[in-house]
Amino acid sequence: MKTKTKTDAGLSAGSVTNSPPFQSKRKGVVKDFVAEMYSFVPEDARIMLCQFRGDPTIDGRGKWTARILRRDCDNIDPWANVYFCVSAMKQDRRGRWRRRKDNFAGGLLLMIDDVGKGKGAKFPLSVLDPLPPTALVETSPDNFQAIYMFDSLLTDEHKFEALIRAFIREKFLGADTGMAGVNRVFRPPIGVNAKPKYGGWRVKCRQWNPENRYSIEQIVDAFGLDLMPQPRRATRLATIPKSERYTAWLDTWRFLKAAGMIKRYPDDDYEDGWIDIVCPWTDEHTDGADTGAAVRPPAPENEYTGAFRCHHSHGGRIKRWHDLTDWVADNHEFALDNANKNAKEFEDYEC
Ligand SMILES: [Zn+2]
Repeated sequence: MKTKTKTDAGLSAGSVTNSPPFQSKRKGVVKDFVAEMYSFVPEDARIMLCQFRGDPTIDGRGKWTARILRRDCDNIDPWANVYFCVSAMKQDRRGRWRRRKDNFAGGLLLMIDDVGKGKGAKFPLSVLDPLPPTALVETSPDNFQAIYMFDSLLTDEHKFEALIRAFIREKFLGADTGMAGVNRVFRPPIGVNAKPKYGGWRVKCRQWNPENRYSIEQIVDAFGLDLMPQPRRATRLATIPKSERYTAWLDTWRFLKAAGMIKRYPDDDYEDGWIDIVCPWTDEHTDGADTGAAVRPPAPENEYTGAFRCHHSHGGRIKRWHDLTDWVADNHEFALDNANKNAKEFEDYEC
């Protein structure tokens, strides 16, 4: 597909490459951007920020911990990899601000990743022709994220999820890991892309049209999407082929491995099938002890989905496999590169 020069999301080629006047007013752009993002965020909710310096593909537990993004942007480090969450979050019942589905307050924008001609780009800019984005952010040379800000707070989590999934089906969001949720993150127009191959690339705002605000219906219409409701889990399981369930297990396993959460690899006494891991909710264990959690690879006993168990009570709620996969979904964005890097090692281990 050839990229058109005049009509790409209403951009001329010139406006993409010259990007006046944003280069010289970087902090100004992000301040406007954040102010726009906060337009519909209610009093009891916040936008969440993750940032750290250095190579984002090198794993480090905790470096993706989310914090509140201040409205004045004073806590943004312009020399870090900077990420915002696509949804506003509220405190959970323990008073914590986190970037998790449990904290969802409302969707703010839709982000379409990997548009352009650069390394890693999956779609030409012309994919954006149906609807001019609110912002176009160059996250690495010739590789863009398109941001479509909503015209109100999208409080219907299932509708937001359906929208994101519809884009996944259309392959706009790249590989379908089944994990892209309402808590995903994107790079706002500030910070650096510190992957070594980009040599300290400073993330650039290539287009900023805050007047471009859209309803879900407008986005759905423009891109010809079909918002199918999320099938119920039981139905879904029955209809997912065994091979896909196995792939989902592999995604989870690679994540756990990349995050350094596998405690004991199976050896000869692997007969019971359980592999000890660090419990993601160790902080909920009554004594704080990091014990008792394990995963089991797909087997007939677990309908080939894989299984999770933890001997701790977690406030009276037993954690199951889908709790673990939800948790991974909350955290995977960052470890995925790393997990894929480790994929070869995984192949050495037959489970
Ligand atoms: Zn536990």
